[in-house]
Amino acid sequence: MTVATCAHVKDLPALPDPGVPDSCPACVMAGLTNWVHLRMFLTCGQIGCCDSSTPRHASNHYEQTGHAVMRSAEKGESWRWCYVDQRIV
Ligand SMILES: [Zn+2]
Ligand SMILES: [Zn+2]
Ligand SMILES: [Zn+2]
Repeated sequence: MTVATCAHVKDLPALPDPGVPDSCPACVMAGLTNWVHLRMFLTCGQIGCCDSSTPRHASNHYEQTGHAVMRSAEKGESWRWCYVDQRIV
């Protein structure tokens, strides 16, 4: 393996799998219901909507907090994405 591992993953707390969340809390607070996919931050458990959703709450959360790694919160998906490394980790 020549690919460097993501330095952010190893610092993450062991969060329990939340199951499949059914809404983006920031969208709900804003009165929106048209999020596309949901993402969960592994640092803090925050749920946010993906970049295909107009408000892009997941990206906003990264920009505001620097929390680097999120996972898909879609049923059957378990991939993780590091915003800092810009790749699946
Ligand atoms: Zn990383
Ligand atoms: Zn949202
Ligand atoms: Zn966070």
